[in-house]
Amino acid sequence: MINNLMTFRPALLLLFVSTPVLHGQAFYGDPPDATHPWAVHDMNRPQPPLVTPGTPSTQDKPGTPPSDAIVLFDGTEASLKNWEADKDPAEPSQWIVKDGILQCAPGSGYIRTKEQFGDCQLHVEWAAPEKVEGSGQGRGNSGVFLMGKVEVQILDNYENPTYPDGFASSVYGVNPPMANALHAPGQWQTYDIIFRRPVFDGNGTELDPGRLTVTVNGVVTQDSTVLEGGGGHRKRSVSVAWPEVGPLKLQDHGNPVRYRNIWYRPLAKRAVEGGTDGRLSTEATTAKRQQIAVKIREDAATKSGFDATLRLMESLYYMVDAETLAQTQKTAAEFFTAISGFSGAELDAKKDQIKGLHNAMNYLSKHQVITTPYAEEAGLKKIIEDKGWDK
Ligand code: MG
Repeated sequence: MINNLMTFRPALLLLFVSTPVLHGQAFYGDPPDATHPWAVHDMNRPQPPLVTPGTPSTQDKPGTPPSDAIVLFDGTEASLKNWEADKDPAEPSQWIVKDGILQCAPGSGYIRTKEQFGDCQLHVEWAAPEKVEGSGQGRGNSGVFLMGKVEVQILDNYENPTYPDGFASSVYGVNPPMANALHAPGQWQTYDIIFRRPVFDGNGTELDPGRLTVTVNGVVTQDSTVLEGGGGHRKRSVSVAWPEVGPLKLQDHGNPVRYRNIWYRPLAKRAVEGGTDGRLSTEATTAKRQQIAVKIREDAATKSGFDATLRLMESLYYMVDAETLAQTQKTAAEFFTAISGFSGAELDAKKDQIKGLHNAMNYLSKHQVITTPYAEEAGLKKIIEDKGWDK
């Protein structure tokens, strides 16, 4: 297909094919630096992957998950196969699936997913028994244990006070929720959790303590709460080394709490190794910039003429390479020589290319990507000014 197009392209145009200058693409925002492998507004950066959103739940009907979600419980008996008894995985879970709802069988123990995962966006819907029994921690108590370790509390706190760090959507024993946004008992409550596990290096040094964000029925209750290890009952929790993945556990606290519509989306790893606050280290940035430059040079090799030259010049701001620089200097010199004897009308026909090439040269020297400006930069600038194209 591409070959066919090439053969139809008039040979005359092969050297400097007329291409509109793509504003907002290359040579636009500030270039990559020591901790940013991409330029500002960089079109070489991968586009975000497409996800088709799900539909929201109502009290009567569970919604649907986004297209890339991994479903852990969808109301079917079959999805109970995603779970096993925590005490003895060889034994089937005694929790019940009825009318599309998963219900805790009090006294049977926690259940956990067979699937193990770490950083995630987790969606869970639960309902405490409509008939209110017990008080404080004894009423509609269950819990969502991320990686089986840190509990986001499930509790019927509707007009039911308890210790705040044990409230519904508390990080249990660590941090109370910022609000009590529960519906009345019997109604469905929605938890959306963003979980970032603690990260340790090979020597057991903590790189990131981990964080939890929770919304309850659309209300933020934990905002990037820093973890202190797993949390716990009565004991002050402490930071401990964590694995990369673990099962999700649901707690049996002796109450027949119901669940529906449980799914998660894995979240990409953070760039904490050797860096801070999620920024790449300078070493990782350099490696990434090199990778991007190579990819762009490969792409340039599939192009011809002016497009190829601009693409090669673009690759320089990720990583300067003497050979690539020399190649672009040679092509730029040839271009400048070619247009030097041009009439006014002939120059007009090359306006986009002249401006595009000058913009690229100017960008690379202005941002000190190259130490010596291209020899033709001043000459191209003069043509642009004489023509009034800079107005
Ligand atoms: Mg609990």
